Amino acid sequence: MREHDVIIIGGGLAGCRAALEIKRINPSLDVALVAKTHPIRSHSVAAQGGIAATLKNVDLEDSWKAHAFDTVKGSDYLADQDGVEILAKEAPDVIIDLEHMGVLFSRLPDGRIAQRAFGGHSYKRTCYAADKTGHAILHELVSNLRRYGVQIYEEWYVMQLIREDGEAKGVVMYQIFNGDMEVVRAKAVMFATGGYGRVFNTTSNDFASTGDGLAMSAVAGIPLEDMEFVQFHPTGLYPVGVLISEAVRGEGAYLRNSEGDRFMKNYAPNQMELAPRDITSRAITLEIRAGRGINLDGSAGGPFVYLDLRHMGKEKIMSRVPFCWEEAHRLVGVDAIEQPMPVRPTVHYSMGGIPVNTDGQVRASADSLVEGLFAAGESACVSVHGANRLGSNSLLECVVYGKRTGATIASYVENRKMPEFDEQSYLNGCQQRVRNLLDKSEGIRINQLRQEFQDCMTEHCGVFRSEKIMKEGLEKIEQLKKKYDLIYLDDKDNCWNTELIEALELKNLMIVGEIILASALNRKESRGAHSREDYPNRDDANFLKHTLAYYSAAGIDINWMSVVINQFEPKERKY
Ligand SMILES: Cc1cc2nc3c(=O)[nH]c(=O)nc-3n(C[C@H](O)[C@H](O)[C@H](O)COP(=O)(O)OP(=O)(O)OC[C@H]3O[C@@H](n4cnc5c(N)ncnc54)[C@H](O)[C@@H]3O)c2cc1C
Repeated sequence: MREHDVIIIGGGLAGCRAALEIKRINPSLDVALVAKTHPIRSHSVAAQGGIAATLKNVDLEDSWKAHAFDTVKGSDYLADQDGVEILAKEAPDVIIDLEHMGVLFSRLPDGRIAQRAFGGHSYKRTCYAADKTGHAILHELVSNLRRYGVQIYEEWYVMQLIREDGEAKGVVMYQIFNGDMEVVRAKAVMFATGGYGRVFNTTSNDFASTGDGLAMSAVAGIPLEDMEFVQFHPTGLYPVGVLISEAVRGEGAYLRNSEGDRFMKNYAPNQMELAPRDITSRAITLEIRAGRGINLDGSAGGPFVYLDLRHMGKEKIMSRVPFCWEEAHRLVGVDAIEQPMPVRPTVHYSMGGIPVNTDGQVRASADSLVEGLFAAGESACVSVHGANRLGSNSLLECVVYGKRTGATIASYVENRKMPEFDEQSYLNGCQQRVRNLLDKSEGIRINQLRQEFQDCMTEHCGVFRSEKIMKEGLEKIEQLKKKYDLIYLDDKDNCWNTELIEALELKNLMIVGEIILASALNRKESRGAHSREDYPNRDDANFLKHTLAYYSAAGIDINWMSVVINQFEPKERKY
């Protein structure tokens, strides 16, 4: 059996930053990082707009406390305020550290790191590298991993978390290139597997964002926290759903309805286009519902609104948000210098995830931890985003909490023995799962079932939700789960069998989707991104608490966990 002191699953910002920290603290530790993509193809590479930190290069009055307050208010008071304090306080140092590693941030004329406005932030505090910030950071981190001697398993798919007697002991992984399967044991296992945008039919996320780490944790008996909070980004390019960064509005673009009106004045008169994402996405959805959306021929009553950059002028568009211009041009043939872009909300980010404490150690329940298991980044829930994340706080979370989790792991493994278990039984179980999929030669095609499932989630758990619609959704999922046993693959090969990987991912998507729906059904209030038509108000008396959802084949049990409120008392949220 293979073994490493530490195995990290995920080569995005969170996984890479953790690996680096472990090696910086103790170069003698044997650290491995696994990714089903090449690490530099992790979704982090697609992050556009930037990373928040109160460097005060542009707005001198900014402070960590203002950043923390904006984050807590943005979260609709569901974020844990101890976690947010750490996030905001440690932000400037992690940015400077990234710069010292070689990350090429955009500059002010005097050479300091530039900072732009972002939704829900009350000062200009978002650092960026044009609109390719994730690319700039991830490339630098990955090359540093090689320098520090982290072993990288690229294009290996992790199928199972091994957890015995409550402890995490290792993983089972499958090499996509040749079909080899290996069990790996480790003193510490860390999930940094990113989000689950592919649960829905329209998303800004890459194809690999299938919630694998969440599903593997859930199947191993670990609760998932606050999964009802799914972020819809207001400006997905219509019809493809890819992201047009918030940086475009940060740089001054307008949202307009079919009447040419900047309708945000009716929803967030002070912040306008830079209101937080939950509010802006609801506003767009309501405009479309009221018949003020736009059709491709420009007539009213259609499925999108306009994002209008024209007044910004060519020079600003091409220097600050060139990639967004290119996306619209390449994908829908719109030249944003001359024409407005068609946009509507698209599934973007997972506020919930694997529950962790502020050191990155995974929780087994509200008051106990899982030995040997850690998580950070989008797959984890600290929770610093509560019910709604502010733009540019996610890359920051990956770096701050990736680093902290790495530091925790470096000292944790010093006192831990290499775990023992029966390798063969896990290998047999996973091999059997693969054989079951390969052996069938007729039934249902994967993409047919996946489409049905994604349509079901989009229809029954979208921007607006209600009990009736969600209950119907859960019933449909029960039917779809039965269909999973009928799927068959055309590709029977061991070499690069991506169809097999898609089948394994689909199972994870369905587990995650069911947990999202069950959690959303249980939260009978509207808070942040969770908007119930049958319970339109926030209900602090009954629901100012985190959801912990436990998955089992028999169904989902919901428990609750209290929110850490130590600085900012909950207030009504107005922008
Ligand atoms: C288009 C877009 C733009 C964004 N822009 C911004 C922005 O400007 N600012 C901001 O703060 N946030 C932004 N975000 C959000 C932010 O980019 C992500 O939340 C963050 O990058 C997630 O990083 P991560 O390290 O948690 O995971 P990811 O970068 O998603 O990486 C996940 C890793 O896990 C691996 N993996 C997953 N499952 C398995 C498995 N079963 N086996 C092996 N490996 C596995 C993948 O291969 C990958 O390496 C954006 C997101 C999108 C989609």
